[in-house]
Amino acid sequence: MTTRAGGRSSGPFARFNLSLGVGDDPADVAGNRARVVRELGLSGLVFLRQVHGRDVAVLREPPRARPGSGGVAPDIPDVDAVVTDVPLLGIAVLAADCVPVLLGDARAGVVGAAHAGRSGAASGVLDAVVEQMTALGATTERLEVLLGPAVCGSCYEVPAAMRDEVEAALPGSASTTRTGTAGLDLRAGLTRRLADLGVTRVGTDPRCTIEDPDLYSHRREGRCGRQAAITWLDPRDARDARRTPPRAAR
Ligand SMILES: [Zn+2]
Repeated sequence: MTTRAGGRSSGPFARFNLSLGVGDDPADVAGNRARVVRELGLSGLVFLRQVHGRDVAVLREPPRARPGSGGVAPDIPDVDAVVTDVPLLGIAVLAADCVPVLLGDARAGVVGAAHAGRSGAASGVLDAVVEQMTALGATTERLEVLLGPAVCGSCYEVPAAMRDEVEAALPGSASTTRTGTAGLDLRAGLTRRLADLGVTRVGTDPRCTIEDPDLYSHRREGRCGRQAAITWLDPRDARDARRTPPRAAR
């Protein structure tokens, strides 16, 4: 997970904005993105042009990076999740209140990332990404998942009708805010959905984007940047995972 720190964006985007879609100077964003590739030692990095949907891009080969981009590929349009089995290719989702979800099955050698905002989470982007990972050999009992920083259930106020609608689509997501109004806790709903899918190795980064000034929050700030959740397949991890016998055999 990136934070606001460490980049060259300025004004409302200060400083480590990684989104090209919020009005920041593209040269600053490109510099920030190239820094991610460099610091993490990745072979490449891809972002999505997210649309709050449930479509998933599956990358079986390294995408071609733009010349001079420092290894960053052009954004993949109109998807909110991505899955890859290409070693050391970073896959990133952007968020500033929505839930970034990172998934991995080291033994199968497949990783995924999803952007789960209110619409995407309710329309099943999580199911869609798990399905694509399973198609590449991942299993739900081996999958490890991280739910990144997002607006929390005490802060995320919505109209009561909207809360009921989202709760119906993603049970477990209804909450009450600290002022006693209707709210949503999308990470609670996503955690329950993962359990229903048989995924129990789930960690949550507890930070709330509205409460933590080190993170961008669209609800708090309006015009602002986006942090990124990034994952990649490290060939050494995959090798170690294959050496470790499955739990039942120990
Ligand atoms: Zn909060």
